[in-house]
Amino acid sequence: MLKIILSILAALGLPTFVGAQTAVDPDPNGVLLKPIPDKLIVLTFDDGPASHYTVVAPILKELGLGGTIYVCDFDSFKTRKDWYVTYRQMIEMDADGLEIGNHTLGHASGYDPIMAMEDQVLAHGGPLMTTLCWPIYAVNWDDCPKLSAHG
Ligand SMILES: [Zn+2]
Repeated sequence: MLKIILSILAALGLPTFVGAQTAVDPDPNGVLLKPIPDKLIVLTFDDGPASHYTVVAPILKELGLGGTIYVCDFDSFKTRKDWYVTYRQMIEMDADGLEIGNHTLGHASGYDPIMAMEDQVLAHGGPLMTTLCWPIYAVNWDDCPKLSAHG
């Protein structure tokens, strides 16, 4: 049965994992796939609406929890500063211990929008983003080798 499942995954071009063993290594640099600690809960928030700064961050801080705010240059990001997290707010949340993650430029799929969002945040003095939330949770496995090589 396992061989059938692995064959189907391979036919679809998807990475195949067997327990902690990797049948096909999609992350030869060890950047994308890391061991997950027991009892870990990951709190993530995507699209960067202003409420991540005004509501989410204060609640997490009050509860002593961390979290990742995934930001993107989405819709009216440049014109409606009251709708989206600003660069100043990203910097402040990062300083408060929250992670600022990449949700791509224009909420678009692909390596270039990922790198463009990173460049934009860094150009505004924001933190280096080391994690990615794929827009619409659609993982583009073809980008993984380039992302892994980028670090
Ligand atoms: Zn999104």
